Amino acid sequence: MNGIIKRVVGVVAVACCLVAAWAAREAAPPEMKFNDVKEIAPGVFFRYSSISATDMSVPFGGCNNTWVVFKEFVVVIDANFPKEAEDVIAAIRKTTDKPIRYVFDTHHHGDHAYGNTVWAKAGAKVIGHVNCSRLLEMNGPKQWAEAARDRKDIANNQLKTVDIAFDEKHVIDDGSQRIEFLYLGHAHTPGDAVAYLPKHKLLCTGDACVNGAFNFMGHSNSASWIKVLDRMKALDVAMIAPGHGKVTNKGLLDLQQRYFVDMRDAVKKGIEAKKSVEEITANIGMGWYKDWTGKDASKIPDNVAHVYKELTGKIDHTMLGRAVSPDAMGPYGAGRGVDVAGR
Ligand SMILES: [Zn+2]
Repeated sequence: MNGIIKRVVGVVAVACCLVAAWAAREAAPPEMKFNDVKEIAPGVFFRYSSISATDMSVPFGGCNNTWVVFKEFVVVIDANFPKEAEDVIAAIRKTTDKPIRYVFDTHHHGDHAYGNTVWAKAGAKVIGHVNCSRLLEMNGPKQWAEAARDRKDIANNQLKTVDIAFDEKHVIDDGSQRIEFLYLGHAHTPGDAVAYLPKHKLLCTGDACVNGAFNFMGHSNSASWIKVLDRMKALDVAMIAPGHGKVTNKGLLDLQQRYFVDMRDAVKKGIEAKKSVEEITANIGMGWYKDWTGKDASKIPDNVAHVYKELTGKIDHTMLGRAVSPDAMGPYGAGRGVDVAGR
C-alpha cells in the first residue's frame, strides 16, 4: 500500500510446536494486535502493523515487518517509514543483539522503503528488485518531497535507494536460515519482489498480497498480478506474511487473486455492455470482498477505474515496468511515463 498518498483509504514468542501444528493443519493463525511481535517460525519474527479500510481508530503503523535471525546477523523484510523503522529496530533488539546486516524493500512505496536511511545508519545494506531501485531513483525525490509535507519523520530523513539490486533472484543462506528474494512479475508495482523462506514454508509478499487491507492499484498491472499470484501459489508455502493485515495460511493467495479476477470480469462485461465506469463501479458486486476486507468493492472507485483504463488500452504497463520520469508519473502514475530505460 502506498501510505504516503492521502487518497489511499485511511491511511513474545509462540512455541515452535504450536506454529508447526498451525502450519500443518492450516488452522486459524495466532491473534495479534497492533505492534505485537511473535516468533512465527524458529528465528523468524513478525511485527504486526495494522490498517483498516473502515476503522479509522486503528492506527496506521506503516507496513508489517518480518525479521530473520541468522547465525551472525539479522535480515529484515521491509524498511517501513523512518519512524516505524526506529520502532522496528527497537523491537528487534528485544529479540536479538546480532547486527542488522540487510533490509529488503519489497517495493518502492514509502511505507516499505522510506525507512532505508534509518536501516543504513544501523549498518544494514538495502536489497531490492532492479525496478524498485529505478523507481526509487527516478520517482523518489518528487514523491519523497510530497510525503515530507505530511510526515515529520520523512521531512527529517533522506531518500535512500537500493544497495543490492537483483533481477530474478537473490539468496541469503548461512546453513541455519535461507531467504530467497524472488521477482515474480509486475503485480502491485513493477518492482515487487517477495521473500521466500523454504525451510519454514513462509512467504513474505509485501503488497503483492495483503490480508483485508486496501489494495492500492495505481502502479499495478492487474492481469500480470493474477499470474504473479499463480507463481506464489506454485511455491511450497504454508504461511503468508502479507505487507498489510494478519499472517495467515496459503488460502489468502486465492482471496487476493479472486479480487482481481472478479473485478476484471465485471469491468469487461460492463465495457461490452457500454456502461460507464461509474455504472460499472456502482454494480461491481463481489459481496464476498466485504466479508474479507470489511469494505464494499464498489466503494473503491480508483481500483475499478484502474482496471477500466487497463481494459480500454489507456495504460501502457511497459513504461511502468522500465522506469518513468519523475514528472510523468503522478501519485497514481499509471502509464503516462516517458521511457528513460537505458539509464
Ligand atoms: Zn505498496
